[in-house]
Amino acid sequence: MELRNLSGIGPKMASRLRKMELCTTRDLCFHFPARYEDRSKVVSVENVPLETPVSVRGILTNVSRRKTRSGLELITAALTDGMDSLRLTWFNGKYLYSRLLALQHKEITVYGVCRESRYGAVITGGEVLEDPETGEIIVPVYSLTEGISQNMMRRFVQKALEYEKSFLAETLPDSLRARLDLPGLREAVFAMHYPEDPKAFARARRRLAFEELFVLQLALTQRKRRQALPGKGIPFVIPEGFFADFEKMFPFSLTEGQKRSIKEIAADMQRPDCMNRLLQGDVGSGKTLAALAAMLICCSNGRQAAIMAPTEILAEQHYLNITSLLGDKAAKYPAALLKGSLKAAEKREALLAAESGDASLIIGTHALISDRVSFKNLGLVVVDEQHRFGVLQRTALYGKAGTGPGARPDMLLMTATPIPRTLTNAVYGDLDVSVIDTMPAGRQPVKTHWKKPEERPAVYKALKTLTDKGLQAYVVCPLIEGSEQISARAATELFCELSEKYFPGTKVALLHGQQPTEEKEQIMASFRRGDTKILVSTSVIEVGVDVPNAVCMIIESADRFGLSQLHQLRGRVGRGKEKGFCILISDGATEESRKRLGTMTSTNDGFVIAEEDLKQRGPGELSGVRQSGLSDFRVANIFRDGELLREAKALAKQVIGEDPELSGSEWQRLRPQVAEKTKELEGTTD
Ligand code: ADP
Ligand code: MG
Repeated sequence: MELRNLSGIGPKMASRLRKMELCTTRDLCFHFPARYEDRSKVVSVENVPLETPVSVRGILTNVSRRKTRSGLELITAALTDGMDSLRLTWFNGKYLYSRLLALQHKEITVYGVCRESRYGAVITGGEVLEDPETGEIIVPVYSLTEGISQNMMRRFVQKALEYEKSFLAETLPDSLRARLDLPGLREAVFAMHYPEDPKAFARARRRLAFEELFVLQLALTQRKRRQALPGKGIPFVIPEGFFADFEKMFPFSLTEGQKRSIKEIAADMQRPDCMNRLLQGDVGSGKTLAALAAMLICCSNGRQAAIMAPTEILAEQHYLNITSLLGDKAAKYPAALLKGSLKAAEKREALLAAESGDASLIIGTHALISDRVSFKNLGLVVVDEQHRFGVLQRTALYGKAGTGPGARPDMLLMTATPIPRTLTNAVYGDLDVSVIDTMPAGRQPVKTHWKKPEERPAVYKALKTLTDKGLQAYVVCPLIEGSEQISARAATELFCELSEKYFPGTKVALLHGQQPTEEKEQIMASFRRGDTKILVSTSVIEVGVDVPNAVCMIIESADRFGLSQLHQLRGRVGRGKEKGFCILISDGATEESRKRLGTMTSTNDGFVIAEEDLKQRGPGELSGVRQSGLSDFRVANIFRDGELLREAKALAKQVIGEDPELSGSEWQRLRPQVAEKTKELEGTTD
C-alpha cells in the first residue's frame, strides 16, 4: 500500500519519506533499524553513570518552563529517589510540557545520557518512558530525514508492519529454510524491528542476509551458465608429459600457486565446455607463466592462442617475455605482435600471420579485436589486466574463433588487482577463480619508507649510490585526477630538476601519456636495456612492466594514490636478485593519509592492502566491485557474512543445476528478485 494511504501519514509526511526511498508499507517494513538501544538495565538516581546512555528510574518533580535569553523554550524538571536528585532539561518540547505535568510526582523512567554541569548531573533531551515494566526493552533507532522524528518513524514502521502482517509472504522454500535453520520472512522482519534478545536478532539478520546473498548468487550462477554454453567449447588434449616438460623449460622451479593454477586451467581446457577462468595473483607472482602453459596446451592441439594487454608497452613486454621464456621452443611456436602503432607493412605481415595460421601465438592490444583481424583457428584467449577491458571488448574475441570443431575459444582472464579474499566469491560468482598466492622463491619483499617532501635531497643522495652501482629507479609523479596534461607538466618539471640539479652525469628519461607512442617505446626500450638509469613518469607505468634491474621506486604525493594502486606501482621493483625499495613522498597532512601510508609501510600482502582499501574507501571505490551488485545490501555484510556467502553460492549452484530458469513453483516469489538483480548486473558496464 502507498504510504500516503496509511492512516497518520499525510501527503507532506509521504513526500518526506519518499526522499528516503520509502514509498510503500512494504518499504517501511524493510527499513530496518540502524541500531538499537538496550533499555533493559534501569538504574536508580544514586547510581547514574556519566556519559553513557542509560535508563534512570525516579519520581518526577519540579516541572517548569521558561524562555531562555536566546528565545528557546526550556523545560526543566528533577528526577529524585528521595535522597539524591538529577536535573532534567529539554529544549522546545511542545507537547512534552503538558505530558510532564501529568506525570509529576509519579515514578517514571528517563532514557538518556547524563553529564556533569554547573547544576550537577543533568540529562538533556532524555526520553520519558512511563511504564518500563511493560515497555520495549530493546528499542529500534532508525535513520531519519528532515522533518521526521525518531518517534514518528517508530510509529510509522509499527503501522506499516501491522498492515503488512498478512501480506509478507514467504520467499524461500520451506525445505531450504529447514535445512539452513532459517526463520520465516515475517518472523525475521518483525524480529529485526523488535528483537526479543540478541539471539533472536542474530537469527533474523542471518535469514535476511542469506536471502540477499542467495539472490545475488542465483543471478550470477544463471549468468555463468548462459555464458558457458555447455559442449560448445574445445576439448583440448593435454600432451603426454606436458607438465614435466613445461617445468624443464625454465631455470627456476614453479611456485606451488603456479602449479596449482596451471592444473586447474588444464582441467578446464580438457572439458568440452568453454573455460571462463580468472587468474588472480599479486604483481610479480608470475601469472604470465601460467598463461603460457595454457597457450602451449592450446598450440599443441594445433590451435592459435591470443593474449590481449591493455597498453602497447605491456603487449610488447609480453611479446619479449614470452619469446624469451620459450627459448629454443620459440621456433616451434611463432609469435606475432599486433598493436596500433605498427608501420603499415609490419601490420600487414602480422595480420597475415594471424589469418594464415603462420603465427601460433598472437600478442596484442585492443588492436586484436579490430574488424581487420581474423584468426585461422583461435582456441584460447588470455586477457591480461582484465579490469581494464569492458565486457564487450573481452567477448569480442569470441566471435573470432574461426572454423573447426568447437565454436568458442576458452577464456583466461588475469588480474593483479587483488580483490579481498572475502569478496572474490561474490564479485566473480560467474567465473571460476585460480589464485597464485605464492611468490617466486628468493624474491624479497619491497621495503617501503615514508619520507616528507623536505627530505627529498637525502632520498636523492641515497638513490645516487644505487645508480652508481648500475641499478635503476622509477620516479612516479603525482596523480592528477582527470588531467594527464597537468600530470605530464608536473613530470616534466621534476624531470628537469632531477636531470639538471641532482643527477647531471646520469641518464634520466621522461615518460608520460602525451608523448607519441613511438617515443614512449624508445624510452621504455632504453630503460629496459639499462641505458636509462632513472625513469621519471606519470602513472602510465602502473601496469605490468618488468625490469629486473630496477630496484627503487619513488612516488611523489603518494597520498593521492589508492592503496591498491600504490601496491601495484611498487610491485615493479625488486623483481630481480636485488632488494627493492619504495619511497613514498608525502607530507602526511591528514590523519587519514598517515593511516594509509602506515598500511603501505607495514605490509606487502596485496590482499591485506585491498581489504584495507575497501575498509577505508568502501566497496564502490574498488575496481571490479562496483559492478558486482555488492553495494546495495540492506542486511548482508560482506566482511562478516563470508560463511553465509559460501553457503549461498553452493546452494545457488545446486539449484540452478536442477532448475536453470527457476521455473518451479517453489521459486515463484524469488524469481522476480533474481530477474531484477540480473538486470542490475547487466545494466552496469565495467
Ligand atoms: P605478474 O604476475 O605480475 O604478471 P610476471 O608473470 O610478469 O608477473 O612475472 C614476474 C617475473 O617473475 C618475470 O620476470 C618472470 O620470469 C619471473 N618468474 C615467474 N615465475 C617464476 C618462478 N617460479 N621463479 C622465479 N621467477 C619467476
Ligand atoms: Mg603481468
